[in-house]
Amino acid sequence: MIVAPKIRGFICTTAHPDGCAKHVADQIAVVKARGLIENGPKKVLVIGSSTGYGLSSRIAAAFGSNAATIGVFFEKPGEADKCGTAGWYNTAAFEKEAAAAGLYAKSFNGDAFSDPMKSEVIEAIKADLGKVDLVVYSLASPRRTDPKSGEVYKSVLKPIGEVYTNKNLNTTTGVVNEVTIEPAEGDDVAQTVAVMGGDDWELWMEALIAADVLAEGVQTVAYSYIGPEVTWPIYKNGTIGRAKEDVERAQAALDEKLKGLGGKAWVSVNKALVTQASSAIPVVPLYISLLYKAMKAAGTHEDCIEQMDRLLRDRLYNGNPQPDEVGRIRVDDWEMAPEIQEIVGKRWDEVNTENLAEFADFEGYQSSFLRLFGFGLEGIDYEAQTDTATAVPSLTK
Ligand code: NAD
Repeated sequence: MIVAPKIRGFICTTAHPDGCAKHVADQIAVVKARGLIENGPKKVLVIGSSTGYGLSSRIAAAFGSNAATIGVFFEKPGEADKCGTAGWYNTAAFEKEAAAAGLYAKSFNGDAFSDPMKSEVIEAIKADLGKVDLVVYSLASPRRTDPKSGEVYKSVLKPIGEVYTNKNLNTTTGVVNEVTIEPAEGDDVAQTVAVMGGDDWELWMEALIAADVLAEGVQTVAYSYIGPEVTWPIYKNGTIGRAKEDVERAQAALDEKLKGLGGKAWVSVNKALVTQASSAIPVVPLYISLLYKAMKAAGTHEDCIEQMDRLLRDRLYNGNPQPDEVGRIRVDDWEMAPEIQEIVGKRWDEVNTENLAEFADFEGYQSSFLRLFGFGLEGIDYEAQTDTATAVPSLTK
């Protein structure tokens, strides 16, 4: 098939297999150029491993530390005449690169929130790896089916207590307008916490502990975001922020449970970046566009791969994680640098449709978004036929 982008609001319904493979290869090259991570992880489970931060975590562990990796995700395989999802093609490419480098890689496609998925993964760890020494939890999902009750929880992105109005960027048209979001109502907060909070992370870790598949000194990390005050009503102080508070609650509980193994649970606060999850959050794309401009000018811009490489190399495995006052790892440090936030804050007040190109890196935002789906990568012939039925080797029966 010849595959072109089909964008519907904040999603792209097509993905390019060769472009996704190039995106993965580019990330591998970034990690390899930085050399081996000394004393890095060796056997790694990544939950949410096919796109965004989870994919980059898997790449950084495999190609920075020669780690064997098991990845879990929810993606759609492609067919001869129908595109699969980007995460499917990313994983196909990752596994091929891992095999070529002599690295073990196995993937599981299905619902990570379910009990059967946890059991299947545990069986694979027992059979192939024995124990894992790092568990990365990087799920982002709009819903979760409770594994016990069968109830389906839905997460929402809403402010709490009052209506929130702020600037917003229409990422299709490049128009800066205003968005007004009604506050959470009913059980919106509880539902969002049930999906994006720490409960499922705890269930995974408890199952892994019970099965005795965690190595001495195991580390586990889940990801969070804080960001600047301008986004707090919709993020930190909104429904998603409550879920992230619950992730911190789970981190403290897991830290206790891992003590017997000499292990450690972490929350890492990461930088705001264009991913499939973040492009769905109102206000955030405008902030990201302003942020990219300021950080690129300062020479401190990073993408998911640089962030995750830094997390492993300079924090989790160098003996100096530099936790903040409440124990979180902060690889959002360069984003939150006062000189960056000062520029972004000032431009936030001034930005409009006319000066967008001057103040914000909207072009960078759009190209990052397209790259998530394998479009706009150098060296790919987008006029040529491509194999949309590309298989993920470990998922081929
Ligand atoms: P993403 O959408 O790129 O990745 C989500 C992953 O979860 C994918 O691998 C997807 O297949 C998987 N997934 C979703 N539902 C699943 C299910 N039911 N079963 C199995 N797998 C499932 O998202 P992301 O932006 O990389 O987010 C990952 C984490 O990082 C989230 O906790 C997010 O809050 C956090 N984070 C993101 C940003 C950002 O700016 N993107 C910043 C800081 C922290």
